[in-house]
Amino acid sequence: MIPYPELDSLEQGYYTQSGTVLQRKESGKNGQSVHLFLKDMGPLWVNAPAATSKTRFGGATEPLVWGTFYVYKSPGKLYMKNAEIREDFLPVRNDPVKLTTAIKLYKLLPGVLLKGHENNHALNSLWSALVQLSNDCPAELVEFRFLWRLLRSLGLCPSMTHCVNCGTYIKGSAEICDDGFLCSKCSSNGRTSVNNEEILIMQAAALLSHDKFMIWSKKTDNNKIISKYSKFLMSFFSNIN
Ligand SMILES: [Zn+2]
Repeated sequence: MIPYPELDSLEQGYYTQSGTVLQRKESGKNGQSVHLFLKDMGPLWVNAPAATSKTRFGGATEPLVWGTFYVYKSPGKLYMKNAEIREDFLPVRNDPVKLTTAIKLYKLLPGVLLKGHENNHALNSLWSALVQLSNDCPAELVEFRFLWRLLRSLGLCPSMTHCVNCGTYIKGSAEICDDGFLCSKCSSNGRTSVNNEEILIMQAAALLSHDKFMIWSKKTDNNKIISKYSKFLMSFFSNIN
């Protein structure tokens, strides 16, 4: 990994890096502001100057696009000099459920990624999520997997396998508390109960390798039940601020 310094202390000069477009804002005469999420550099806003032709960067400043971005750091600002699209994930853009899921994941990132710090684990997870959606993996499972892996990259994920109170490996059912799962010994009345099937689905969705997830997720019937646990994972992002 190239040890990039924090953004403010980035040296003047050119940087070439792969990544994706998180957001884009029109800045009138000044062109566009583009929020990139780049390998080894993390999330950063760059100015994509207006040109006589609107198509200066082609579709490369569209959110969800992946590519190679050529960025110039002047003393005060970052500019996009060029961009080459590597993948635009058309199968995701052309399917409402896949697109809604992808947008949900993209919208979450600006608020939780640390500015000026790389997070290649989260970037890799985002790429994998789009590959999985493109390949017809169920959106609910892709979303749960991405949320847990993003939390893991931030050091905030609850354990999928061990009791948060006593550390025992969870067998059978469990209970949910604010910090994760409680084994049957540590649980108390009135907490949400999670049955064994749900535990196994969550464990597989979060922990399988990308290749195994691609195969397993398409064979899983009961994937809708995982949506409520995606909401549970979302609550862990509130620990960031
Ligand atoms: Zn326990």
